[in-house]
Amino acid sequence: MPTFVNCGADIMLTGLLQDVEGKSRCPACDRAIRLDVEDGTIKKLEPSGALLHYVSCGAGNDSSEFGVICDSTFLFDREECLDAWKAGYMGPAGRVVTPMEFLEEASAARRC
Ligand SMILES: [Zn+2]
Repeated sequence: MPTFVNCGADIMLTGLLQDVEGKSRCPACDRAIRLDVEDGTIKKLEPSGALLHYVSCGAGNDSSEFGVICDSTFLFDREECLDAWKAGYMGPAGRVVTPMEFLEEASAARRC
């Protein structure tokens, strides 16, 4: 049974619970990004410089809840694409982290 995910961050949130082989596409250049999560850590990331912009659905600074708003959450293959995308982005401000940093933040909190 394949695991269906909504966005790049969802691959990783799902990866905290089970092993996942995820694919996403850079919203700026449409390049494929491959992300495998095993035992709660990132096993494979291509390209290795991929960055995640995410907006949490947790209430403010309450770190007891964690989840992402997929409409504002994207995985980018490189920083240049993130910058280009941000220039036209009108949504809520999010955080930019590496996929590994995201996993660490997400695993320390409860999903909302
Ligand atoms: Zn790109």
